[in-house]
Amino acid sequence: MSYLDLQRLRAEGQAFMEAISRESYLAYAGHKKTAELQPIYQQYDRVLGPEALELTLDAFRSAAEGTEEKRSARLLLEWEIESQAAKPLAALDEREIAWENTAVIRSPDGQVVQYQAAPIEIANTRDRAARLALDAARAKLVKNEHAPMRLERLQREKDYIESLGIGRDYNSSFEAMTGISLENLADNCDRFLRDTKSMWDDTLRGVLRSSLGIKPSEAKRSDALALFRASEYDDAFPGREMEATIRRQVTEMGIDPTANGRITFDVGEREGKRSRAFCSPVRVPEEVYLVLRPHGGQSDYNTFLHELGHALHFGYASPDYSFEFRWLGDNSVTESYAMLFDHRMQDRGWLLRYSKLGTNHVQKFLRTAGLEELHYLRRYCAKLMYERMLYSGDVPWSELPDLYVSLLSSATGFEYDPADAFVDVDPGFYSARYLRAWQLQSILNEELTSRFDVDWFRNPSAGPWMVGELFSRGQRENAEEIAARAGTNKLSFKPLIRKIEGLLEA
Ligand SMILES: [Zn+2]
Repeated sequence: MSYLDLQRLRAEGQAFMEAISRESYLAYAGHKKTAELQPIYQQYDRVLGPEALELTLDAFRSAAEGTEEKRSARLLLEWEIESQAAKPLAALDEREIAWENTAVIRSPDGQVVQYQAAPIEIANTRDRAARLALDAARAKLVKNEHAPMRLERLQREKDYIESLGIGRDYNSSFEAMTGISLENLADNCDRFLRDTKSMWDDTLRGVLRSSLGIKPSEAKRSDALALFRASEYDDAFPGREMEATIRRQVTEMGIDPTANGRITFDVGEREGKRSRAFCSPVRVPEEVYLVLRPHGGQSDYNTFLHELGHALHFGYASPDYSFEFRWLGDNSVTESYAMLFDHRMQDRGWLLRYSKLGTNHVQKFLRTAGLEELHYLRRYCAKLMYERMLYSGDVPWSELPDLYVSLLSSATGFEYDPADAFVDVDPGFYSARYLRAWQLQSILNEELTSRFDVDWFRNPSAGPWMVGELFSRGQRENAEEIAARAGTNKLSFKPLIRKIEGLLEA
């Protein structure tokens, strides 16, 4: 075996990431029937072997705090551990994907629904009794078949990370690797839930009565899906025009939506193509795919804008950066750029210019958007608090479903089902990245507004600024450092609360 140093690890690591990303793109876009990931793991065995882990651990431990070496080593170590953990879990993931692709739900009235399509089907079921029955059938299938698979995966992931001895347990290992304090974030979430509780209770009570005709004590999670489906706005967001409209917006912002041809919009109909839009960075920044099947409707626009934010971030990353700054890092950053775009769906000026809502409907749409934003934030705060308990090991696995129901139900006002306690988990605290992205996104929106005015999304100077100050820097910096450059020394929920209050009063 030849000698492995950091330079080789970077080169081989990049080749490995490109191979995995290309394979996933081909499978999810319907170019291939399945993703064959195992052969890639075998081919790049050395990148994920004990020697590579030792090398990155050494680099991390020996680099002095505050240096560029430490910054690199932290990103490489975090990636090395995540990839090492993913390798033994790949077989479980393949089993789960195969199950999800074939599982069907049979409701008591004889309806047969694909498991993957259940959330959409539930959201679209206007008759409440039928909706609850379908969700009960879904929960039963989850409890018997899906939850045991996810529980096994979570337990193995936790055991593996703890076996590396980076921290005394899973949570402290995560904190040591990422530099993110879960305790601070959970405290922030707890405070956010208390600060917005009366605003949420008051708003929800009225909406449940007027939209669904039910009392707060009756509301179930499946009612939330139906409430936020808001199909009355579908015509304002036509699928046929979506790509051209949003490309026009990016062009008006002063940048090329294809990043000079590096981003490919894969919009063709193809069997096996996923219905939700996604972004695949196959080579960063040279080859990025934005894959979608335009259906129309507000959630389709939302997803497309979100994935476009990721695509522009990858497509405009500086080619001079090392592997770790282009490919790795704090995903709160890329998620915040994605959210900066999807939050235009809460922006009056954007909606009036690029949707067909018109001045008559925009007011009511913004109130619904505020309600939805507050709901998802409260849900994610509760999720983070729950996931922190789950990975801590302080609560026995058997008692987690009750904790899940109590935390999620009280935060959202919708009663959750214990069956979802292991399925509704973002592995590896991705929920923490989303929450930090939410915070950073609101800071960046305020920064863009102060520099380029409220309609920064069509200011030809805003795009080049975003490329120069944000996108080109990959994820070399973490969310706190980018917030600091925007003049805010702490990530917080405060600007989000201000924004939501404004939307609900619209
Ligand atoms: Zn995203």
